Amino acid sequence: MLSGILISVAFLVACGLALAGLLLLAERRILNFGPCTIDINNGKKVLQVDGGNNLLAALAENDIFIPSACGGRGTCAYCKLKVLDGGGTAGPIETPYLTQEEIKDKVRLSCQVRLRNDVRIRIPNHLFDIKRFRGRVEHKRSLTHDTVELRIALEEPSQISFQAGQYIQLESEPYRGREAVMRAYSISSPPSQNNAVETVIRLVPDGICTTWVFEVLKENDPVTFSGPYGEFHLSDPDRPCLFVAGGSGMAPIWSMLRDMRENNNRRPVSYFFGALTQADLFYVDDLRQLERDTDWFRFIPALSNEPPESDWEGERGLITDVITRHRPETAGDEAYLCGSPGMIDAAVRVLTAGGMPENQVFYDKFA
Ligand SMILES: Cc1cc2nc3c(=O)[nH]c(=O)nc-3n(C[C@H](O)[C@H](O)[C@H](O)COP(=O)(O)OP(=O)(O)OC[C@H]3O[C@@H](n4cnc5c(N)ncnc54)[C@H](O)[C@@H]3O)c2cc1C
Repeated sequence: MLSGILISVAFLVACGLALAGLLLLAERRILNFGPCTIDINNGKKVLQVDGGNNLLAALAENDIFIPSACGGRGTCAYCKLKVLDGGGTAGPIETPYLTQEEIKDKVRLSCQVRLRNDVRIRIPNHLFDIKRFRGRVEHKRSLTHDTVELRIALEEPSQISFQAGQYIQLESEPYRGREAVMRAYSISSPPSQNNAVETVIRLVPDGICTTWVFEVLKENDPVTFSGPYGEFHLSDPDRPCLFVAGGSGMAPIWSMLRDMRENNNRRPVSYFFGALTQADLFYVDDLRQLERDTDWFRFIPALSNEPPESDWEGERGLITDVITRHRPETAGDEAYLCGSPGMIDAAVRVLTAGGMPENQVFYDKFA
């Protein structure tokens, strides 16, 4: 009797598996998920990949890393590239992020291009230099109640070359039923420290990657990331700079400042840093030390939610009001802004109202 039941169960399981296999094969055939060719920059590199994947992921599997801050969800629009042939037309997730000009130019969000046939694409040549790195957590140091400094010592490759202001894409591991994701984090260490990268990571409630960093990742654990990415770095060598950051937006600015100090910078820099309360400030001692050590740097932290009766003697109020008070005229300055999109949009309005041309404003939105 028992063996009869076991045979029936085994038979049903086998039928189920066979049916699932047939469905998978049928789906691949219907959706034409055969092997595909990706021709990059007129044959500069030609890849053979399995169809079915999205273009962003297929390229990453072949060590071509396109910038992407949202990990392929179609919400950051960083992964734009030209699909000259074979990509079909832009879908409804992409079109809000594409101008008419870009659509005409065959620009697509690579995370939204499903590979069904051969494609011909064009990417900027410098993207061939982005690598995937393996490293180990050298330290995870608490900076405030919701922010940590994560330093990753590099193992393979053992050195990284980047410009102050650029970012990496950290790859989290699956944990507690949550999937592996990739998220952007600006490098806070200076380029001279090329055997490690330091980042400043702020916990996002219920965020997949930040919860993994805060609750799962431990010192000495292995980590993987790709980089360096981004166009956010110092340009004009002489013009006075205004740096504006909030929260973890400190990271790329801290890298730039350390780089400027090491290279004997002479550009005047005023750094406006916005936080809610004194409990949200960090690196203040280092920044005050930089002020004492140099004649080109001023640090202006501003608190928007500090209790009125507290001992805080610095600036109070929104960072935008503080900028206007200190710098009503900004035409001769260049600005570098980093932090939440809301803070950046408001700061850009204030700076341009003060006379700064838009082409002298550079920013990285932590969207
Ligand atoms: C260029 C760049 C540089 C950056 N640098 C830094 C840095 O130096 N330091 C730093 O801390 N951050 C930085 N960020 C932000 C960082 O990349 C992450 O976005 C952030 O850490 C949150 O990631 P997460 O995986 O924890 O959260 P996510 O899982 O992405 O979630 C973020 C929030 O969205 C909500 N959410 C997620 N998915 C959905 C959904 N489908 N529907 C509704 N809500 C949803 C979550 O509940 C959560 O509140 C940077 C971003 C960019 C673009």
